[in-house]
Amino acid sequence: MRQIVVAMHGEAASERELAQVREAWESGTYGQLLFHVYSGDASKASTVQVARDLQTQFPQAHVVGTMSAGEIACGRLVPRGVLVSALLFEDTNVQVLRYDDVLDREAFVGKQIRRDVEAVDHVKAVELLFPGTEVYTKGLFEQLSLCDTSIQFFGGYSGGHELNAPARFVFDPSGIMRNSILVTVFSGPNLHVDIDKVIGWEPLGLPFTVTKAHGNRLIELDGRPASEVYEKFLQIDRTQTDNAEEGYTFPFLAQYKGEAWLRSAIHIGEDGSLDLHGYVTEGMEIQLSYGNTESIVRQINQRVEALRQFKPQAILLYSCIVRKVFWEDFVDIEMEPFAQLCSTAGFHTWGEIQRNPHTHEVVEHNVTLLSIALREGNPPIQELAPVRVNDTVLKGPAAQMRRLTSLVYTAMGELQKTHSELRDLNRRLTIMAERDALTGLYNRGKTEALIEQMLDESAITRQPVSLLMLDIDHFKRVNDVYGHHTGDEVLREVATRLGSVAATWVGAEAGRWGGEEFFLVLPNAREPEAMLVAEDLRKAIEQQPFPQAGRVTTSIGVITVTGNDDRIKAFANVDDALYRAKEGGRNRAVQATLA
Ligand code: GH3
Ligand code: MG
Ligand code: MG
Repeated sequence: MRQIVVAMHGEAASERELAQVREAWESGTYGQLLFHVYSGDASKASTVQVARDLQTQFPQAHVVGTMSAGEIACGRLVPRGVLVSALLFEDTNVQVLRYDDVLDREAFVGKQIRRDVEAVDHVKAVELLFPGTEVYTKGLFEQLSLCDTSIQFFGGYSGGHELNAPARFVFDPSGIMRNSILVTVFSGPNLHVDIDKVIGWEPLGLPFTVTKAHGNRLIELDGRPASEVYEKFLQIDRTQTDNAEEGYTFPFLAQYKGEAWLRSAIHIGEDGSLDLHGYVTEGMEIQLSYGNTESIVRQINQRVEALRQFKPQAILLYSCIVRKVFWEDFVDIEMEPFAQLCSTAGFHTWGEIQRNPHTHEVVEHNVTLLSIALREGNPPIQELAPVRVNDTVLKGPAAQMRRLTSLVYTAMGELQKTHSELRDLNRRLTIMAERDALTGLYNRGKTEALIEQMLDESAITRQPVSLLMLDIDHFKRVNDVYGHHTGDEVLREVATRLGSVAATWVGAEAGRWGGEEFFLVLPNAREPEAMLVAEDLRKAIEQQPFPQAGRVTTSIGVITVTGNDDRIKAFANVDDALYRAKEGGRNRAVQATLA
């Protein structure tokens, strides 16, 4: 196969390049010709005219077009205009399909595409050109994800150079389409395709949870209007609804379905929500992110090395507009290395589509650089020379940017470490404040609070609550005979057995009241049930000898109340019942009556 890149802005240049295409096509070596027209020309008429002219000159060719936010030829961002890539295939079959009326019928269209793709033999890759970011792709991509896992998907969202109101349409020789998807199916046993993306954007700052979202609209983060995050961290005035573009280079990053997802906001809603390029779901944890030039360079080097082994004959580069905005004059840094392997063409997109090679999910991304490498037949034996990013410019004029990002990431890394340490400390402090150090059970304060809480609920539900107060019999003797250490061991073991019995009752809570006294609180437990649990508890301690101390027994007072009963009396009565258990000979449970 062969790729010839035709730049349409200089008439002379394009004539020479078009002549090359004609010569190659007429040589008889190639069976299929596919033109991609990437148009940065906002004028619809002249854009479509290019597609028509190509079709007229090459009636057998396939022509697909998309608006572009930056035209990429030979690994470089070329002056704004119309760029044509001619792909000539020897024995690969190319089919272009078009799906209209997509909006609000996304899942249905997805099903149609899936059916049509599955009807073709030996499909290797499917390209999707989307008209814009309004399409809610979840249902559509779910359908495509069901296609045979050997089929790769890639593509991009159209959108012109203008950040605020980009021209969003795809086109073919018949005209422009704002509500259609152009699908190109590449098939044939001889075609080899290698697709992957580079990101290099890394999280900045602390995570937020998506608490409210609808489709591509991010409504709330941590229960607050999502755009507050933009205002607070990026100083973007959220009352100016078209200010979202200022945050383009700081997309939200989520770890989702086994990979990083990036989402840029297009628009700030009146209600403080953010319209994103692509959907988010409630419960997702997201962070703001920013490009880390070091990571980008490293990832590009890895990707280019993988492609050097693949030995491509043509590469399509579909890169997010955000990367163009981020790199400004230096955007070629990350594209040029690809062009050293073979002919390269592509465009800056408003969203990138890729099938995850591991999960096989077809998903849309923002802020990625997709490289789609194609080859017909086996790779030639001859090795390609190693290629690396030329990052001298990063050491020169762009060094300030590199240092600044490095400073930010290092500082953020430290802050994140401190944050997680604080979170751990907080967790430990909470445990310390609520737990008894010896047994790990709730301490008296927390136990009292839990009892109060259950009684409050009971006042509403009118369900009974039972309190069991347990005291170890002759515990002083354990200390006297075996020592304080063994006494502590007995307390711990009693706590463990108490915990096991508590686990048999839904909602039960156990606590250490102090010394060798414990509490078990049973929500929704009536008197007979509470007495059964008390018996279980008594037996669980008495019947299994303790490692050092041998047989240990306990006395238990039991009372059943509701939230409306006098709570002070309830405590006095259960204490009284425990006293009677002791008086009655210990090793028993006694039921109190509320008096
Ligand atoms: P009774 O059957 O009447 O309850 O007799 P008792 O010996 O268990 O009662 P008493 O209240 O006289 O003794 C409780 C003992 O528990 C006294 C105290 O030294 C001991 N004790 C309290 N807290 C701890 C502790 O954390 N560790 C140890 N080893 N002993 C403790
Ligand atoms: Mg006691
Ligand atoms: Mg005791």
